[in-house]
Amino acid sequence: MKKNIDFLVVGSGFYGCVIAERIASVLKKNVLIVDKRDHIGGNCFSEIDKTTKIEYHKYGTHIFHTSNQKVWNYINKFTNFNGYRHQVISHYNNKKYQMPINLETINNYYQKDFSPREAEVFIKKKTVKFQKTNYKNFEEKAKSQIGNDLYNAFIKEYTEKQWGKNPKNLPSNIFNRLPLRFNYNEDYFKNCIWQGIPIDGYTRVFENLIDNKRISFQPLTEYNINNPIKPKYLTIYTGPIDKLFNYRYGKLSWRSLKFKNKIVQQEDFQGTSVINYPQLKYEFTRIHEPKHLHLERNYSKKSTLVIEEYPIINDEEPYYPINDNNNRAIHRLYKRDINKLKNFIIGGRLADYAYYDMDMTISAALVKFEYILKNFK
Ligand code: UDP
Repeated sequence: MKKNIDFLVVGSGFYGCVIAERIASVLKKNVLIVDKRDHIGGNCFSEIDKTTKIEYHKYGTHIFHTSNQKVWNYINKFTNFNGYRHQVISHYNNKKYQMPINLETINNYYQKDFSPREAEVFIKKKTVKFQKTNYKNFEEKAKSQIGNDLYNAFIKEYTEKQWGKNPKNLPSNIFNRLPLRFNYNEDYFKNCIWQGIPIDGYTRVFENLIDNKRISFQPLTEYNINNPIKPKYLTIYTGPIDKLFNYRYGKLSWRSLKFKNKIVQQEDFQGTSVINYPQLKYEFTRIHEPKHLHLERNYSKKSTLVIEEYPIINDEEPYYPINDNNNRAIHRLYKRDINKLKNFIIGGRLADYAYYDMDMTISAALVKFEYILKNFK
């Protein structure tokens, strides 16, 4: 590294690259980004499959969606988006249903032809009543919204597979990610104004973000707090917070994923980008077919890439925080120690131990940059 390091960013996901971009463009300071992996982009990284030439998201399908005007304006400086809108199908007992649960799912499952109002009344009768509206766990929350039948078919076993836990031991707010609809809208992120896939793929967005002579990127570099790279002003750490302190208060629990890629010699394997498999008899939770993310591209009609997703435990590749009381208490201890460090701040999904979507991460990085700007004299 020849240049002076004014700011050090650890981790090259959205949080790290957005902050680096702002520091270099606005403060006109030099930034070094290090990452332990051999590539940029964190879990949003995309690459082209060599055989089929299909671009796929190495760490699972990522759909960009937001209603945050600031985030949308910002990210559009670095990429255009295609017109993709996400829809998900659930495969239960050898039949396909729409997900999240909507009027089609309800009518199809119960073999009815309800109107929206009739479906609402019907499901209301099916819901399980609990004492408090302050639901104790995922299962209570889910059953209070959709009742036992739909819960057992589409949610219970998927959630057990996904999290490796009984849903009674999971926080209720995970269920808030799944809307329930009494109409035929099948747009997964219907409440978001903007949605799509970066037209040239996610990796290109990161390359564009750091395309600045003041930013250097150093892959395959583990950050070590005992022997740190010392920047002139500030370190912004976006890796796992427990690892930073060598697990001194114990390990935070994460759920990780493993993917099995297959090439299938047919034009279209499943007709859509993601199908969920909510039953335990399938070890995977979903099958991805990334060809469907880029309908504007002229992919070959001879083959397609198919990716099975398996939830696993793997501390080295954390994806989803298991955000229960115990883990939150551990996180608070680490957070307290961070506050004692000088010229050191944290952010992003791994360091905050939070289930952020991409737009939330970008928004948080932009807000943190405003803080850096105010305090940087
Ligand atoms: N979920 C489920 N069945 C499904 C889809 C989701 O039970 O078919 C539950 C599951 O617990 C999951 C959560 O809803 O972890 C959130 O789902 P989402 O699709 O938002 O997860 P992500 O895409 O972030 O993995």
